[in-house]
Amino acid sequence: MCIFCEIIKGNIPNYTVYEDDKCLAFLDISQATIGHTLVVPKQHFENIFELDEDTAKHIFNVVRIVANKISKSLNVKDINILNNNGKLAYQSVNHFHIHIIPRYENDQFNIHFSENKLSNEELVELLDKIKRA
Ligand code: 5GP
Ligand code: ZN
Repeated sequence: MCIFCEIIKGNIPNYTVYEDDKCLAFLDISQATIGHTLVVPKQHFENIFELDEDTAKHIFNVVRIVANKISKSLNVKDINILNNNGKLAYQSVNHFHIHIIPRYENDQFNIHFSENKLSNEELVELLDKIKRA
């Protein structure tokens, strides 16, 4: 059984901040910033590609609820919502989860998008490819 399924089943200690019939939100064991929380579906889906529509809708609303709770309780306005799928994307636990990461002035969390400007032709070609799928 995966580590998050163990947490959901209550087999290992967890730090639940929100729970309903479909999902659980708990503090990440490694606090990237103070308040770092994970939201997971109770059903084991490996990643975004396995997730069903109802769970996807439900879980993002729970992310919204928990982000608000964190914002109010910890007095933060800035928050990253992050989801990693696959090894190259740094997924280390293969049970779908969404990170809620509150941001503070001069915190140590680093998320950096490198600049990569494409020409209009390249963007249109890319767009056609994605839209055709
Ligand atoms: P990923 O890299 O897969 O997107 O994120 C997995 C997250 O799960 C990491 O931030 C890691 O700290 C957290 N994590 C791993 N094992 C445990 C655990 O046993 N308990 C809790 N609360 N978090 C965990
Ligand atoms: Zn699992």
